[in-house]
Amino acid sequence: MRWIQRLCSSQPASVLRTTVLLLLVIAVPAPPARALDAPTERKAYAEAYAALRSALADEPAIDNHTHLVYSARYDERYVEYMPLVMRQDIARQLDLAEALFGTRDPTEAAAIREARVAAEGDAYWERHLDATRTRIALVNTMRPFAAAGGRLRRVPFASYLLFPVRADNYPLHPEAAATASRAREWLAGEGGADAAALADLDAYLAFVDRTLAQWAQTGAVGIKFIEGLVRPLHFTATTRQQAAELYAAGRAAPLSRTDYLRLQDHVARHIFARAPEHGLAVHIHVGAGNPPFLRLGDNSVHQLENVLANPRFFGTQFVLIHGGFPEVEAAAYQSLRPNVWIDISAQSHFVPVRDLAGNLRTYLGYSPRSVLFGTDVSSFPGVPAGPEVQHLVVSERLRDALDRALAEMVAAGEVTVEQAISMARDVLHGNAERLYGFAD
Ligand SMILES: [Zn+2]
Repeated sequence: MRWIQRLCSSQPASVLRTTVLLLLVIAVPAPPARALDAPTERKAYAEAYAALRSALADEPAIDNHTHLVYSARYDERYVEYMPLVMRQDIARQLDLAEALFGTRDPTEAAAIREARVAAEGDAYWERHLDATRTRIALVNTMRPFAAAGGRLRRVPFASYLLFPVRADNYPLHPEAAATASRAREWLAGEGGADAAALADLDAYLAFVDRTLAQWAQTGAVGIKFIEGLVRPLHFTATTRQQAAELYAAGRAAPLSRTDYLRLQDHVARHIFARAPEHGLAVHIHVGAGNPPFLRLGDNSVHQLENVLANPRFFGTQFVLIHGGFPEVEAAAYQSLRPNVWIDISAQSHFVPVRDLAGNLRTYLGYSPRSVLFGTDVSSFPGVPAGPEVQHLVVSERLRDALDRALAEMVAAGEVTVEQAISMARDVLHGNAERLYGFAD
């Protein structure tokens, strides 16, 4: 339990130490995801669970998907619309806020947190990563941030590159409008897209290539697509000629939504093909996300199959963010392809540990080499004092679910305890080390 001591060593009073210890230790025994048949199976499960807990107590994790550096934006008006598990988490997170920031008031705690982040920079993040047993965390953001000695790594939004011309007719709903306008602002500002210089599609795609190279050179390890939140994830094949004509037409007058999607399809497929040249993994949000505008059908893993199964993209490493949840088995099947990975983040926001363990068992049954530990902690309206308090809770829950899933597999005679421990290490960090080339 060195990680708890590391967290506590930064706290001023021993009373806080005790509070945090009590809050974070997960109760044992943990029940399995499904009813076990015989007393011998139950005994094997309990022994395997205990062996996994003990072997992995100090095992570090690589968190494949977070929004750790975001500012808190707790809003109790939304709480009653959240899944039960997120609502239940609020009390634990307020307890942690009190232990860490000395107050249970979400606004005060958030202000203290912001001040500490600003004052302490890297030291704040390194302490937090130690407390959650996180060796490296990937963060979705366009902005630079304290890198915590290389332990916070950037995954910028490639979606911002999919709005090369005015998008007046593109939005179906306010979220799509917000995404389009953020992308257009970024392109014209920080992104450095000089509209006059990007007079045709060739010039625009050359700009895209320069941007990918620059992101890779400045520490990005992947790029993120959030298209499923605002359009179908089905990226059709559009010829260079068709796309060039759409680009030219879009510079003269706003395209229809249908034409805009075809132009985006071409740019997206260009990026999918080029990403490996820059050593960038392609993260795609697949499955559940924030209501109310998200359409699960648009975000379905089935929408992506024409890309995942296309030999043109077999050299591209695709990471299915959120593991396609709730289409767990369909996403697990896709991970049989050597270049498709499963990120398990966000599922803990929707379902309890028992169900999470069941999902993990499905993924592990298909392709244990493809499963990546991830949390998706963020500044959701139901998170009271910033993503770190959620990270403390969710990291523990995911580790518990992983141990339960593997203990079940041991009890069912599918793997030995030694194999289960090895698979857990791969999920926690080994698979991510292979994917991103991180040294172990
Ligand atoms: Zn996310």
